[in-house]
Amino acid sequence: MNEQEKKKLNERLAALDTRERHKLYKRASLLRKARASMTKTRNRAVDEEDEPTRLRIRRGENLDDWVLKILDQEEPTREVEGAEKKSGVVVWIGKKSCRVRIPGAEILCDVSGEIQREQQTLLAVGDEVVVHLGEANVVRQVLPRRTRLSRPDPQNPNIERVVVANVDVVVITVSVKTPPLHPRLIDRYLVAIQRGGATPVICVNKLDLLDDPEERRAELSKLEPYAATGVEITTCSTVSHEGMLKLRQAVEGKTCAFVGHSGVGKSSILNAIKPDLNLETKGVSEGYGRGTHTTTASSLYHIEGGTRLIDTPGIRSFGLWKMSAQELCWYFPEFEAYKDGCKFGNCTHTHEPVCGVKQAVGDGLLSRHRYETYGRLLGA
Ligand code: GDP
Ligand code: ZN
Repeated sequence: MNEQEKKKLNERLAALDTRERHKLYKRASLLRKARASMTKTRNRAVDEEDEPTRLRIRRGENLDDWVLKILDQEEPTREVEGAEKKSGVVVWIGKKSCRVRIPGAEILCDVSGEIQREQQTLLAVGDEVVVHLGEANVVRQVLPRRTRLSRPDPQNPNIERVVVANVDVVVITVSVKTPPLHPRLIDRYLVAIQRGGATPVICVNKLDLLDDPEERRAELSKLEPYAATGVEITTCSTVSHEGMLKLRQAVEGKTCAFVGHSGVGKSSILNAIKPDLNLETKGVSEGYGRGTHTTTASSLYHIEGGTRLIDTPGIRSFGLWKMSAQELCWYFPEFEAYKDGCKFGNCTHTHEPVCGVKQAVGDGLLSRHRYETYGRLLGA
């Protein structure tokens, strides 16, 4: 901290009473601790599709630096005379800036310091924000979220990373054959989506690759356990266009995010719904696997009729927070019908000797795969 900063800090502290000062230092200490633990884990190998953490702590920063940072952050913004405020929706986020759709235009905005440091926590695509227009447009406020799809930071599970905000529907996109249908990611998404208040829809793409009716039936039967949970399932192909009408109807007038592995056809589906989006898709040869991926950040597209579509980067693994058995059971509604057979009211359906849910799994009435996922998530 240089002399000038020291002077500034002392002036600002002088205006506070002892209790306020104490509180401020405590906050600074917590912030510093959180940042330090992130920095420590920052260099660990990360799944290449997971976003790197963008926080940095400079060497030699002491608690006073952090206190000054907080004070700076909270300094009432000196508004440019006549500065206009507009509310809008975040459609894209870069490192230090974001694009916001305001009535009649889309503008590039700077993001205030604190929001920048807490990227993907305080600000996500889909967020409603207040922008102060001026020489530089600045995002000053993020409005409360109606819904969110979030997950723990892969490197620091204490930090929430919001993938998208204020979505009505999240379409869990999977494909058949390339890549093959793996229901495991579906389970995790279903929990996270419903926990965040949005409605899940499962969309199975590339149906054109299954022209043999028997093969199609066998492949789609993997989704029967999900139909039993009441989730809407749509099937489609961006090549033959079968099922596209139904998918269009499912997203109409809503804000919908498409999530799922890289290569399942999310960008292709968005193009099929709205051809002039012209999103880049992968060449067939690098259709799936660990090759280059086209979508590296989420983007929100406005479509006529109030529909908003969000393309998200492929996320290979989607972490979840640890939950109690009681909460987790909310997301496995198909267990409900068999709970009468449990001896204990607070049965976790794991180690208890008399358990209606375990019995139903044994009798083939409940999906073993779903039950195993439940157990894994409980122990997660
Ligand atoms: P994303 O990573 O999920 O956005 O996937 P892309 O939209 O980039 O598509 C990945 C690959 O799958 C590309 O080669 C597409 O041409 C191909 N693809 C997309 N939809 C279909 C489909 O319905 N059928 C077939 N056969 N291929 C598709
Ligand atoms: Zn039980």
